[in-house]
Amino acid sequence: MFEKLKEILDRGERFLVATHIDPDGDALGSAFALSFALTTLNKESVVYLKDRVPYRYQFLPRPARIVNELPKEAFDAVLVVDCGDLPRVGEGHASLKQMGNLVNIDHHETNDGFGLINIIDGQASSTAEILYSILKSLGVQFDFNIAINLYTAVLTDTGSFRYESTTKEAFSICEEMTQFGVRPSYVAEEVYESHPKERFHLLCLVLGTLETFDNDRIACAQVTREMFERTGTNREYSEGFVEYLKEIRGVEVACLAREVGDGQYKVSMRSKDGVDVAAVAHTFGGGGHERAAGCTIQGSIDVVKNKLIGAFSL
Ligand code: AMP
Ligand code: MN
Ligand code: MN
Repeated sequence: MFEKLKEILDRGERFLVATHIDPDGDALGSAFALSFALTTLNKESVVYLKDRVPYRYQFLPRPARIVNELPKEAFDAVLVVDCGDLPRVGEGHASLKQMGNLVNIDHHETNDGFGLINIIDGQASSTAEILYSILKSLGVQFDFNIAINLYTAVLTDTGSFRYESTTKEAFSICEEMTQFGVRPSYVAEEVYESHPKERFHLLCLVLGTLETFDNDRIACAQVTREMFERTGTNREYSEGFVEYLKEIRGVEVACLAREVGDGQYKVSMRSKDGVDVAAVAHTFGGGGHERAAGCTIQGSIDVVKNKLIGAFSL
């Protein structure tokens, strides 16, 4: 398994690791774990992160070299993790192809195979799950830094083992990572119970906008820039709000529209059994997974909501 990747890693000395903008736990955990693993193989690596690390992931051990501008140097390969398409890497993505052999490691079913080498498994719970197999087959010796990054990636991308995408590998990897000193209660507290109180001031405003449609099948809420300003918050503070909307009995699709620019909304979609939100996100130029997807839609909030309701109504 992974013969072509092994060859590239064996021959090369220096690697660039990249992941997606607005990084989540899987993006960060996979990128950091991969960089730490390369160090154990006596390889140099630089992690390219366009955006800063969100507050809830600040506790993750970070590799020594993280840059937020693309380096000018050449690399033996560019390893892109958790990105369904190359533009998701953010600014400079077009030049990545010239910087080294592109390796695409991902679990999005919508992945367009942008790499020279593509290691894609749409059934995997997370990119970290694929990475775990890769690192094992490379003979990497796991340590705490690798383990806590992989653990957090799997935990967050399975919604704490609640999503359908939760595989038995997700459980077994996390169990194995505890053997390297990862404490589940510590990670849970850092990720889920360390929010600034402003998050809840914002949540009060957002829940006030909750509406349901199509006999309560669809739940929508919005976050405006004015709400962010009023509560001294930004988009990072509203991560996960969409999950609350899905907790309503009978709701099959939950949509949260967050204002990101004039007449521009970033929409997060979640679904229960039966509705493929990735397919709908795709029609709006976005992507994701069957049960969790996203896209950006232009228009006033009423236009955005009507487009969503139209797309999801039977
Ligand atoms: P979010 O709603 O931002 O938590 O995203 C849910 C899922 O959809 C994640 O797996 C993302 O990778 C994916 N996703 C979100 N926004 C986009 C987008 N604009 N293009 C492609 N995939 C996206
Ligand atoms: Mn991700
Ligand atoms: Mn992922």
